[in-house]
Amino acid sequence: MSFSNLTLNKNLLRALTELGYDQPTPIQLGTIEPILKQQDIMARAQTGTGKTAAFALPILHRLAENECEGRPVRALVLTPTRELAQQVYKNFEGYAKYTELKSAIAYGGVSIKAQITALKQGADVLVATPGRLLDHLTNGTVTLDKLQFLVFDEADRMLDMGFMDEISRVLKCVPKQRQTLMFSATFDDDIHKLGKTLLNDPQLIEVDAINTAAEKVEQIIYAVDKDRKREMVSHMIGAKNWRQVLIFVRTKQGADALAKEMGKDGIKAVSIHGDKSQGAREKALEDFKQGTIRALVATDVASRGLDIRQLNYVINYELPYNAEDYIHRIGRTGRAGENGLAISLISPDENYLLEEVEKVLDERLVAQWMPGYEPDLTKDTSGGRPKSKAQHKKRNQKGSGRAGGSGGRRRR
Ligand code: AMP
Repeated sequence: MSFSNLTLNKNLLRALTELGYDQPTPIQLGTIEPILKQQDIMARAQTGTGKTAAFALPILHRLAENECEGRPVRALVLTPTRELAQQVYKNFEGYAKYTELKSAIAYGGVSIKAQITALKQGADVLVATPGRLLDHLTNGTVTLDKLQFLVFDEADRMLDMGFMDEISRVLKCVPKQRQTLMFSATFDDDIHKLGKTLLNDPQLIEVDAINTAAEKVEQIIYAVDKDRKREMVSHMIGAKNWRQVLIFVRTKQGADALAKEMGKDGIKAVSIHGDKSQGAREKALEDFKQGTIRALVATDVASRGLDIRQLNYVINYELPYNAEDYIHRIGRTGRAGENGLAISLISPDENYLLEEVEKVLDERLVAQWMPGYEPDLTKDTSGGRPKSKAQHKKRNQKGSGRAGGSGGRRRR
């Protein structure tokens, strides 16, 4: 099926052709029609599946069919991070290129002035992070009384990041009569609860199995001692001459330290995390896209919204505490049909985290050894693995290193 079968505005179709979008992705096939029919939806889709266009196209279509004088904000997209806000905003701009519709963006960490100027000029669509949106609402630099569409993008992450209070305050400023669309990579109880309070008789759209991202991505797990991980990563990137590698770590300090150490190994790497200024984050991303740096070392939060076309390699330097983040991470590669490779380095104390990932994916992931980096089985194995995430964190905070070697093949 092609986009032209979806009866979208011809100016939108023109932009899609230019962007090289031939066919709708499964999530787009699932959501575009119901949104056009004014249905509230709750859609499960990971980043990388084309979910932005899945809501942007029908919204733009409906806005374009009914232009509004003075361009009040008629569609609001809330995102958990500024990177995702930028990505979504860019997509709206791209799709609406041949229409008269205007979009604006509002996120924190940068001066509010330019945002106020843009809003004053009128914007049909506003893409915003909740905190900065509330600043604008409080200052009266934006009003939402003409809102028709409210979109929650990556709703699961919004909850994880503690945005519930902000969301409640935003809801007081939007009309009750509206269409609400919620996108989330996962549907757990909290998301269902939130959906019930926000949505009106929503259509549930789950075109993707939870592990769709994983299907296009080859996953390799290497068992390796913690203190040899950095050496192994630099070796892999150097020996295989990988040019663009996204590396995930758990902490901001860890990201900084790894990028620095890799630099000493001759691999140009930069860290990206929440403590970096917006300018630094944008520059890092741009340098990465341009290929002036080979490795981007990111925390989970910072990685949201990174859309790098044809990213082939993702390395999990450490597994995330939240198994669902694994799906988000590996979804950074294999985007929109591309193939990707996701490599995870597992030290013995992370075996329980791998088990959590396996549960979420409903798939067994067998660890292997890389020649020259086999785990040292003679090392202390008395530590045992931590029984809980809290214990694991505590152990790491103490800096106690590895917690016991179970060997390359994991026991189950
Ligand atoms: P998203 O899940 O919205 O982050 O989209 C992931 C990537 O897929 C982005 O680079 C989009 O531009 C691209 N994309 C979205 N829809 C399509 C499509 N129908 N055909 C080709 N590429 C697409």
